[in-house]
Amino acid sequence: MGSVNFDTSVRYLSGVGEKRAETLANMGIYTIRDLLYHFPRAYQHRGNVRYVSEVEDGETASLIMTVASQPHTAMLKGRMTMTKFSAFDGTGKCNLTFFNQNYVSKIFTVGATFRFYGKIQRKGRAVSMASPAFEPYTEGIALPEFFPVYPLSGNLTQNYMGKIISSALAMLNEKEIEDILPEKLVKENHLPTLGWALNTIHNPMSYEFMEKARKRFVWEELYVFALAISLSKKKAKDGNAVLFAPSDMDRFYSVFPFSPTNAQRRVIGEIESDMTDKKRLGMSRLVCGDVGSGKTMCAAAAMYMAVSNGCQAALMAPTEILATQHYNDLGVIFAKLDIRCELLCGSTPAAKKRIIKKGLADGSIDCVIGTHALLTGDVEFKNAALIVTDEQHRFGVMQRSALGDKTKGGHILVMSATPIPRTLALIMYGDLSLSYIDEMPPGRKKVSTFVVDESYRERMNGFIEKQVGEGRQVYIVCPAIESEDEGLVGFDYHPGESRPKLKNATEYADTLQKLLPNVRVALMHGKMKASEKDKVMSAFAKGEIDVLVSTTVIEVGVNVPNATLMIVENAERFGLSQLHQLRGRVGRGQHKSWCILVSDSKGAEAQSRLEAMTETNDGLEIAKKDLAIRGPGDFLPDKNGNTRQHGGVAFKAVSLCDNTADLEAAFGYAGEVLALDPKLDDPENQAVAKYVEEYFGSIRSSVN
Ligand code: ADP
Ligand code: MG
Repeated sequence: MGSVNFDTSVRYLSGVGEKRAETLANMGIYTIRDLLYHFPRAYQHRGNVRYVSEVEDGETASLIMTVASQPHTAMLKGRMTMTKFSAFDGTGKCNLTFFNQNYVSKIFTVGATFRFYGKIQRKGRAVSMASPAFEPYTEGIALPEFFPVYPLSGNLTQNYMGKIISSALAMLNEKEIEDILPEKLVKENHLPTLGWALNTIHNPMSYEFMEKARKRFVWEELYVFALAISLSKKKAKDGNAVLFAPSDMDRFYSVFPFSPTNAQRRVIGEIESDMTDKKRLGMSRLVCGDVGSGKTMCAAAAMYMAVSNGCQAALMAPTEILATQHYNDLGVIFAKLDIRCELLCGSTPAAKKRIIKKGLADGSIDCVIGTHALLTGDVEFKNAALIVTDEQHRFGVMQRSALGDKTKGGHILVMSATPIPRTLALIMYGDLSLSYIDEMPPGRKKVSTFVVDESYRERMNGFIEKQVGEGRQVYIVCPAIESEDEGLVGFDYHPGESRPKLKNATEYADTLQKLLPNVRVALMHGKMKASEKDKVMSAFAKGEIDVLVSTTVIEVGVNVPNATLMIVENAERFGLSQLHQLRGRVGRGQHKSWCILVSDSKGAEAQSRLEAMTETNDGLEIAKKDLAIRGPGDFLPDKNGNTRQHGGVAFKAVSLCDNTADLEAAFGYAGEVLALDPKLDDPENQAVAKYVEEYFGSIRSSVN
């Protein structure tokens, strides 16, 4: 028998012809390495041997039994056959049935002993198994306890996968396979050898070994990922960033009507050390902070530092209304700091636009706040050295790199109001350093949150009227725009959960206006033109509208401190992080605020998810729960920057919830290796360099 290495084609294995090779290729399996890295998705625990007398109906177990009666085959309807016989252990008898497997009557001779594995049926004292898996059993000779269960495709069977994987393992020449992990990493984390891990993950002797093998593959994935991200960071930073001198921060803080929180002070310190770093690598930083945590002050600090150093800065928001709000807030601050700041949006009059563009080109304007138009337009800066983007999740990864092009050698600051858990942040924004604002400004009131059903409708409408009567304002969010709408948010249901009818914003606004004629109700949704939406939103901000019925378009960033009540209809439809974002629209002023989650869903899972919202106001806590419940799919941006799909990260062994600490350590090891071999050119790094390249390839194909 010849030997194979990782690069050998699977065609080399006996049993893999053209057809099967094609099916394997559909699963991404071309080489021996691909095949051996096709890990089981589960294991049958056939070592769980039980006695006939004790097994229960519905249980899956192994029984070691001796054949008691000669198998008898009967013809059934069609061309089906059924082979029946009985077997026993010391405690009782079990009836065994096989369908369309006539050949088994030759195997099961009276007196021979087997281990049978499968689902038990029990009716009173009668125990039976249908089509169990089986192996001949000899007293004193141990059988494997665990059987791998592989992801399959086409007409491949478990048996077939098991066979070709075993033969690949047997033929693999261990000396020829290259371990991609650095020796130091292997030693410090007590990892097994690659050969042992491969053998074990496919044929584990125990849970303990299985886990030990898996740990090795977790590290491989983390290490390749960390290398890929670190390399792309290195490429982005050429050591030519604009170098800032330290700024007079006391002067900066003195113009605010409040003192910074410790968290704000820390984050601003991190920003400053990036921009004043003598290595001139430039800032690429993500600031994560819950709604209301005070990210604006951090953005302002960075802009102040840029301007103090004689450079320009730009702040980009995803919508015109958000840009305007930033301009209103920051304008006051910047005026006190003698910083000349302008607002540049799509709706800015043409003449004004021209003046602003001229000012940016000749340097008479220090700061500009605006929307995407800034990016795509023909705006030229004299010497922009900082771009801040607010509410990053509305910007795609590609847009972010386009931003970098506007400021050569400049600094990038990204602000996200989605408090993503650290692991996920490393994956989504691995090319950015991370800062968390993990502390709220003092005096922030908790938003009281309730989950109610339809029977509260009347009382709730009364409450809306009462709030409006006191001069407050109300948001109502519906999942659909019109009655036939499938809904804009699609939480995946668990089977068996009822699916309540969707509230749509259009009818809702109508009905509510008729019910409460003295209340000014307005409608806003995503199908409206941007200018119309902005009009409604500004009217609401000015207090000309009492109740705003809308879809999730109000989700991001808007600040109307007078709004004290947020009602979310069909709350079961929304993810926790999204509900948290919506709730963050209220509780921004000095008045007590409420969030009412309306749901008629009786599903236990939906109910417990909504209950979680009543228990905590901590966005990071909620994001962690969301991640645990729904997995990372909803967080990772797709190519349009929407957060529903996968972002090109495919981990096989890594669990995003469990491997946080290891991921950070992996970056450490990657850094050490890159310090010695910055481009992975050394012969000893060739194997890993190939996988890093593949990793980039998978990111690229998911972005393009
Ligand atoms: P976000 O992180 O959601 O962008 P903002 O920067 O808009 O939060 O801040 C929310 C509110 O809190 C604003 O009204 C702001 O003036 C106020 N604020 C920010 N920092 C502090 C602070 N250190 N002390 C008191 N109020 C603060
Ligand atoms: Mg903000």
